[in-house]
Amino acid sequence: MDLYEYQARDLFAAHDVPVLPGTVAATPEDARTAAEQLGPRVVVKAQVKTGGRGKAGGVKLATTPHEAALKAKAVLGMDIKGHPVRQVLITPASEITEEYYVSILLDRTNRTFLAMASTAGGMEIEQIAAEKPEALAMVPIDPAVGMDEATAGTIVAAAGFRAEVAEAVTATLKKLWDVFVAEDALLVEVNPLVRDGQDRIIALDGKVTLDDNARFRHAEHAALADVQTQVSLEARAREKHLNYVKLDGQVGVIGNGAGLVMSTLDVVAYAGERHKGVKPANFLDIGGGASAEVMANGLDIILGDPDVRSVLVNVFGGITACDAVADGIVQAFRLLESRGDPVNKPVVVRLDGNNAEQGRVILDQANLPGVFQVDSMDNAAETAAELAAAGA
Ligand code: GDP
Ligand code: MN
Repeated sequence: MDLYEYQARDLFAAHDVPVLPGTVAATPEDARTAAEQLGPRVVVKAQVKTGGRGKAGGVKLATTPHEAALKAKAVLGMDIKGHPVRQVLITPASEITEEYYVSILLDRTNRTFLAMASTAGGMEIEQIAAEKPEALAMVPIDPAVGMDEATAGTIVAAAGFRAEVAEAVTATLKKLWDVFVAEDALLVEVNPLVRDGQDRIIALDGKVTLDDNARFRHAEHAALADVQTQVSLEARAREKHLNYVKLDGQVGVIGNGAGLVMSTLDVVAYAGERHKGVKPANFLDIGGGASAEVMANGLDIILGDPDVRSVLVNVFGGITACDAVADGIVQAFRLLESRGDPVNKPVVVRLDGNNAEQGRVILDQANLPGVFQVDSMDNAAETAAELAAAGA
């Protein structure tokens, strides 16, 4: 799970990494109030999970609370690389004399952890690596030793930090390692880490990716998950006239007709008792229509739920016969692939009723990756629960 800058900032603060105070605002009015407390000079920063906000106009300086409200108004609702801006972070503007880059990450290729640092900060890491590779220090971190004084010193020397800031950067690297370990992160990146007018070192922008496999150790991280996604999935479903309901399990459920969908939820929950207690993650009633478009939209929404580990499509063919539904599923896979969003989770399909046999043949012949056909509703629920438990 990637965090927003303000969430990364909160984690940094909790581990004594030097950060500036900051307040999140979702309206220009809230931005004004925050600026009255933090200002007069503040920076208004778009909160989106993508880099290059500065270049995209998502980081703006304001010299008065009134201006902060105006800047917030401009930034809120912006779209940065496909990410709508719903919140801004208001922080006091700092006087920057130098910008640096530091990060700690899991280096899968070399089966170790890696620290990277450069005194040429402010640029994206890819750009530093491409344009100034000699200025990018890369030091492996032995997990058994961690970021001790000697390792931090090696990084500071390799990157060529000036003497005035060496001690403060060393201390910050050790604190960032604390964040990395204690929070079970895969990436902790600070860009820029800045030196201000008083030679203080401050983490001005942070990016943190948490390891989802360590979720069980961090109940407190659940609060960092994006509730916005759920809201927007429901909004998207409404827009397409689909009936989508978010639940708290791991199996996505698509069915036609309220009665069938409700009983599908029951059999999934029942099967889940034998598979690590998995439950339905959500459900979507595609109603009478099961055209390719309806099926594509339905799958898109169900798969857009990050909790989903497997999907169960349970259809009883009536006026819309199963062969049409099967065609819909095949075309949905192609449509999603062409949108650059190929289906990447197992989909269990149970077709029954009108033209069920033809529908099964169509799916067999299409040989879609990750599609499992199961004849009965109970067995389909069992398979979906098993796959969800395996993928959880
Ligand atoms: P990013 O573009 O998404 O990485 O957003 P950053 O938070 O890193 O901000 C981009 C750039 O804006 C930084 O590299 C700084 O040069 C500048 N910036 C951000 N905050 C401040 C500030 O408080 N004062 C000044 N002078 N510049 C800032
Ligand atoms: Mn940055």
